[in-house]
Amino acid sequence: MDIRGKRILVAGIGKSGLAAARFLKAREARVTVSDARPASRIPELTRLLDEGIMVETGHHGLLTFRRQDHIIVSPGIPMDVPELKQVRALGMHIIGELELGAEFLQGQIIAITGSNGKTTTTTLVGEILKASGLPTLVGGNIGKPVTDMVDSSTPETWSVLEVSSFQLETIETFRPRIAAVLNITPDHLDRHGSFENYAAAKKRITENQTPEDFLVLNAEDEPTKLVAAKTKAQIYWFSGRRQVKRGAFVDRDAIVFRRAEGGAFEAVLPLSEITLAGAHNVENVCAAVAMAKLAGVSNEVIRSAVARFKAVEHRLEFTRELDGVRYYNDSKATNVDATVKAIEAFTGSIHLILGGKDKDSNYATMAPLLRERVKTVITIGTAAEKIERQLAGVVKIESAGTMERAVRRAKELAVPGDTVLLAPACASFDQFDSYEHRGRVFKELVTAL
Ligand code: ADP
Repeated sequence: MDIRGKRILVAGIGKSGLAAARFLKAREARVTVSDARPASRIPELTRLLDEGIMVETGHHGLLTFRRQDHIIVSPGIPMDVPELKQVRALGMHIIGELELGAEFLQGQIIAITGSNGKTTTTTLVGEILKASGLPTLVGGNIGKPVTDMVDSSTPETWSVLEVSSFQLETIETFRPRIAAVLNITPDHLDRHGSFENYAAAKKRITENQTPEDFLVLNAEDEPTKLVAAKTKAQIYWFSGRRQVKRGAFVDRDAIVFRRAEGGAFEAVLPLSEITLAGAHNVENVCAAVAMAKLAGVSNEVIRSAVARFKAVEHRLEFTRELDGVRYYNDSKATNVDATVKAIEAFTGSIHLILGGKDKDSNYATMAPLLRERVKTVITIGTAAEKIERQLAGVVKIESAGTMERAVRRAKELAVPGDTVLLAPACASFDQFDSYEHRGRVFKELVTAL
């Protein structure tokens, strides 16, 4: 993409929008950033102006949008806001920060998407590649925006990218050497409109792949399996349950890899060396093993990197044991499927803190599992009423409203041997800035008990 001297608008001043604006400015584009928030709520405003970046706040002005050569849209802005719909109808060039950065990134890309497990798996693949001595960068939807990775990349670099469905909606040429789809379960339906649209965005991860590339797919997840029909890449599977034609899977007490259909298995690591809790994390490790093997990493390096790897913060993170009760922070469980996986990681006697901002989710699907393993559901946030209605009669439910009351109530209810689990199945934005904020508040309250 030609940048120098071009008029480029970056819509949305978030982390990736800021990175994109500075990236473009450094390459001598005429950059404007636009944000629907009022100027008073954009702390970076003066700095951007000082850097020579034009800023438009309070609305997305259609006139500004139309005067551009390119538009870079942030993942937080839905593609169907009226201004974007109109400029798109005019045939204007609109891409996301992922596409922009990836066009300039040198070396090879590993891209990981899925409804759940992206951050854990991306971080783990990054650790394995680093341990093998390959020049590795990690970023995308976690940590560093892709445009911030460009200057550090060389032709030998492996960039391990977490990519979200929102980022995939605005790609054009994005082509990972190795792509992975971990799972596709209902999430963000409030933004994507339907499960079909959401699944279609995830499938785009492979749309530019060729027969030289690899696509790693979850053999146990039906919507993910459908992606296989859409690819030109070589497909490798992973499974936490059974043998796959080729790929990584659990065989007795170990994760093994089979490179060719009908070929022998190589033992990569024993399950006993995985420190992460839950069967879902065994799946994440299988996916990471498949990617690392395809990138050429040895079994010994994979094995020791996996053994050293601890849960990422807010992902089923052990917080404290008090009076025989164990407390876990899984604030990142922001959808029903992630909460189900968190519950499944424990055998029973759980006091579960649920709620936050609803994402059009159906909590009733959790009923059988709640009956089996959960003693009390304690609700917080704006989704509380809906959760209480959908789960009425399934399990004992108490309404706490706030995290503070929920933690206090959980402590009162729990007896030695019980588990208190924050796995809210909702977004955090009704009461917190982010899931990280929610997780920190939970941990502080638990530590103060
Ligand atoms: P993401 O980046 O996709 O949100 P994370 O690694 O941050 O993924 O994990 C998010 C939540 O999803 C965690 O709290 C965990 O309970 C759950 N989870 C992690 N891996 C999986 C998986 N493979 N399948 C289902 N749920 C998972």
